[in-house]
Amino acid sequence: MSAVRAGEVIQLSSRVRRLIANNPGAMTGAGTNTYLVGRDEVAVVDPGPGDPTHVDAILQAVGDGRVRWVVVTHTHPDHSPAAAMLASHTGAELVGSVLADDGHQDRTFAPASNVRHGDLVIGKDFTLEAIATPGHVANHYCYLLREERLVFTGDHIMGGSTVVIIPPSGDMADYLHSLARLKEYPIKSLLPGHGDVMGDPIGVIDGLIAHRRRREDKVLRVLRGRGELSLADLTPLVYDDVDPGLHPVAQVSLWAHLLKLEKEGRAGKTIEQHWLFGQQRWGLL
Ligand SMILES: [Zn+2]
Repeated sequence: MSAVRAGEVIQLSSRVRRLIANNPGAMTGAGTNTYLVGRDEVAVVDPGPGDPTHVDAILQAVGDGRVRWVVVTHTHPDHSPAAAMLASHTGAELVGSVLADDGHQDRTFAPASNVRHGDLVIGKDFTLEAIATPGHVANHYCYLLREERLVFTGDHIMGGSTVVIIPPSGDMADYLHSLARLKEYPIKSLLPGHGDVMGDPIGVIDGLIAHRRRREDKVLRVLRGRGELSLADLTPLVYDDVDPGLHPVAQVSLWAHLLKLEKEGRAGKTIEQHWLFGQQRWGLL
């Protein structure tokens, strides 16, 4: 996504506009994508971090329209904190789901009730359908814009970077199921929370599933070859193709892979708990 400036409004389709929050970084790419759906009645999808400048940019883009809904894919701090600010300006209804806090959740997001799979947001010229997609985090939802067959994918599918699965609220097995679930919908394009619009959704989704399968195979191969290893020792072996600067994050995804294998009875911790996360030792069963 070259030469995109924070706050600049880009028309993506007849119903959808995008602006990017000014929070670029290793985990957020160019910044969080905020989408405006509709013209007169607007649903703001993923309003972004609690940055008053970004909220002003959203309100300015909406102009004479009215923000009726603020829809969030999940409640990580780069996606939902602006929701409360926008709602207090506009009286908009909050759509999303909250989770018991795991230390990574935006506690200011408080919808009247949690969105559920299949719920609809029906505006004057659009219909958004909620699709439960746990995995990145347990309260993650994607939203299908039915009229245009576009899906807002939040952090379920990102453009240009790999989604981090943080257990226990993140779950690798759920994540893979949720990827397969999206393929059941008639989708033309994916609109991610970070990165650019993606065509060929089936190709993208199949590629992501294959990527995780390959990584899982590598975990099994390394454990088969080396025997028991600590998370800290296993990480550079399984992620030898990844920038070492990203290994602390990769270690968390590795843990998610191991928990999936544990659930399936294929791997297990050899010491039940160690006070140091990285010193948990894992082996094949
Ligand atoms: Zn997230």
